Amino acid sequence: MGGRERLVHAHASHGTVGVVIALDEAREFVMSQCPALAAGGVACRAAVGLVLAAPVVAAEDVPPFANSAVDGYAVVASSIAAASTSTPVEMPVVGEVAAGGHTDRVLKPGEAIRIMTGAPVPAGADAVVMVEQTERLEGGARVKVFGSVKLGDAVRGVGEDVRAGTTLYPAGTLVTPAVAGVLASVNAEIVQAVARPRVAVLSTGDELVADGSPLEPGQIRESNLTMLLGLVAEAGCTAVDLGIVADDEALLESVLRDAVATCDAVVTSGGVSMGDYDVVKAVLGRIADMSWMQIAIKPAKPFAFGLLDAPSARRVPVFGLPGNPVSALVSFELLTRPALRQMAGHKSVDRPVVEAVSDDGLRRRSDGKLHFMRVFASFGDDGRVHVTSVGAQGSHQLAASSLANAIAEVPDGDGVPAGGPVRVMLLSVG
Ligand code: AMP
Ligand code: MG
Repeated sequence: MGGRERLVHAHASHGTVGVVIALDEAREFVMSQCPALAAGGVACRAAVGLVLAAPVVAAEDVPPFANSAVDGYAVVASSIAAASTSTPVEMPVVGEVAAGGHTDRVLKPGEAIRIMTGAPVPAGADAVVMVEQTERLEGGARVKVFGSVKLGDAVRGVGEDVRAGTTLYPAGTLVTPAVAGVLASVNAEIVQAVARPRVAVLSTGDELVADGSPLEPGQIRESNLTMLLGLVAEAGCTAVDLGIVADDEALLESVLRDAVATCDAVVTSGGVSMGDYDVVKAVLGRIADMSWMQIAIKPAKPFAFGLLDAPSARRVPVFGLPGNPVSALVSFELLTRPALRQMAGHKSVDRPVVEAVSDDGLRRRSDGKLHFMRVFASFGDDGRVHVTSVGAQGSHQLAASSLANAIAEVPDGDGVPAGGPVRVMLLSVG
């Protein structure tokens, strides 16, 4: 059995038990069905966090004209080359030029023009003496220069930052704030970028309360919807809040159909296990092309993925995460975030993984599964990443896991002894 056949398909009836598959297999299957979204023109300010879909060729030089790197005096270098503290050179100041201004005065040898940082270097001048090496005389009519000056000193040449016609960024470049700044500097007002995925998030369960009202017997306050909206946004997508949906098949179907009409992906939590009210399973099994997976990991063993037909012949990926909050978190990190980042066109879709030192023992029982334990990571004096367990590791204990900044991958067996090596996925560094 290989590929798709190993993944268990939907059945409207409950109780479908599939083979347990490896995480890599589940991930490959999901990734193969989440291609990058189409690209479009985006204003460079709105492109931060997006990925360029076409190379950007600079249309202009930066800087566009030779300008001064300092506040000082524009001069002809050869006319005062030998100035020094013991033998300063004195000369008339024949004009002034500030940033944003310009002067038509052509500088002659033996003259100076007062110049500010960023102002165009006047014609004839070929160097700037910084003000710290000068003394103002006669109310600014003359200046004494103490330092020696070489041709080109403190002059920023045309195109020293960017040459017009060069390819600044290839397709696939992530637009960071600095990249956006450079785009602005070359007047690349609109760039072609992969669309930011709009991701609908909903949570299911009749027990869930999200409006602050007093809890009735059997009710709990929801946490997954709030968490997943944050995770989706943090992954660089636009999170669309579809709220809590009751365990009602007709209602869930209409919410899902509305969602795929306007969104590029849907993330649900809850209702994908073996319970009698697992309506996500029932509804998606009927209306979407779903695979119900049992993955050899803990937490987050159940996971559903499929495609739901949307208007304009689009097929929208649907990620069915488990309801237990820690399972939903781990499932998102392992199987949803990389897929969403791929849809957004990122070349690097994964969190960084490093080999760390486990300061605590990360003990576990052998059960054929890969365990993902939530840990706190920090840099030790030895320059290596060290991790300690966040404590409670139950899949319902989100409070402990909320303090994790890394997830340790503990292979099958009896775990990692204190001081032993462990692979960890870093959720945040620093
Ligand atoms: P389910 O997958 O629907 O069977 O839910 C598994 C467990 O997760 C149950 O204890 C649910 O009450 C809980 N759960 C489901 N959704 C949420 C949510 N949004 N917030 C907190 N707990 C949830
Ligand atoms: Mg439920």
